[in-house]
Amino acid sequence: MFHRFQIGAMNAMIVSDGPLTLPRPARIFTGPDETAIDAALRPAARAADKVRVEQNCLLLDTGGKRALFDNGMGTSRLFGPDSGQLPASLVEAGIDPASITALVLTHAHSDHCWGTMRDDGVPNFPNATIYMAQAELAFWESAPPGERRERSLAGVRKHLLPLRDRIRLLRDGEEFLPGVQSWLTPGHTPGHMAYLFDGGWCLTGDVAFHDPLSYVFPEAESAFDGDPVEGIATRKRVLARLADEKLAIVGYHNPWPGLGRVERAGSVFRFVAGSA
Ligand SMILES: [Zn+2]
Repeated sequence: MFHRFQIGAMNAMIVSDGPLTLPRPARIFTGPDETAIDAALRPAARAADKVRVEQNCLLLDTGGKRALFDNGMGTSRLFGPDSGQLPASLVEAGIDPASITALVLTHAHSDHCWGTMRDDGVPNFPNATIYMAQAELAFWESAPPGERRERSLAGVRKHLLPLRDRIRLLRDGEEFLPGVQSWLTPGHTPGHMAYLFDGGWCLTGDVAFHDPLSYVFPEAESAFDGDPVEGIATRKRVLARLADEKLAIVGYHNPWPGLGRVERAGSVFRFVAGSA
């Protein structure tokens, strides 16, 4: 599945890796009670018993480079049977993986980078330089083993470390591709990056992964945030900027194809779907 659009003067496309199935919201979000969660989900006609979120990968042509932002679950079915569609989506869109010269990661969780490497250790994008935050790679390279981290660590060892010499580490606020700037947004992971694009766009990664709950309850702790307190502070800061500057957003887990805007609704926020 793919969707073409423009980011400023740049040709862009969302290519889907397919949806993930996650546990019920009350097991992910701490703060609002189940009644409040149900009430927030009702207008969006979302099931309260489980969470289904998209994986919208951005493909962007800029300055003679072709960049893919995040690359899905690969062959893993950790979050249900419907992921792993990125290769088929690229074929459908007529995109040769060898034409992708930049692989840009928001962070190193499974659903964002496990499409990097095939199971036989051959890179899926043989000509790509990998861009990610210095703080992100440093964290995973030095993270002590722990039950919650074990899967992510295994993924980093399989997908990123073998390509270590092709990783270009980013700091906050770097224009590393023409018209594309990094924005360090830690909390979900220590080196989580959002990306800002010329033309008033932002790719938000997992700062607010669930529509509507992450927007209606920005102060709810998320079980997926490595540092839930920092996650809340970053979410509020990012959502406020997106709303105040009226930036168009590419939301990785937002409803297909993940394009829209963020508006303030009193002290909270809402995601308004629709291409700019
Ligand atoms: Zn994610």
